[in-house]
Amino acid sequence: MNRIEREIKTVGIMINMYCRHRHRSDKPCGSCQELLDYARQRTLKCPFGEDKPVCAKCQIHCYNPEMRVKVKEVMKFSGPKMISVHPMRAIRHFMAARKEAPMIKK
Ligand code: SF4
Ligand SMILES: [Zn+2]
Repeated sequence: MNRIEREIKTVGIMINMYCRHRHRSDKPCGSCQELLDYARQRTLKCPFGEDKPVCAKCQIHCYNPEMRVKVKEVMKFSGPKMISVHPMRAIRHFMAARKEAPMIKK
């Protein structure tokens, strides 16, 4: 599994976790599914490819304002829970978040 696939999977886990607790839904509700599809599409189209930084550190911020608010809420809720549920994934994400984001190529 490459970095992009891994990141899509991680964000999916976090959105599912958020939806289960906040929206009491076993599978992503309409709004969370929309966010999941959007995040997946953004990640696949990320101009940094395999050098992709964590989105929170990105200088481009390609998410639209509405989705950005939604994904921030998911991260805030699910981020701290990841370490106990998916420790390896959480550590990988933590390590990636420590890296400097690449500069935008002109
Ligand atoms: S916010 Fe930045 S790192 Fe995240 S997908 Fe968009 S361009 Fe890539
Ligand atoms: Zn939901």
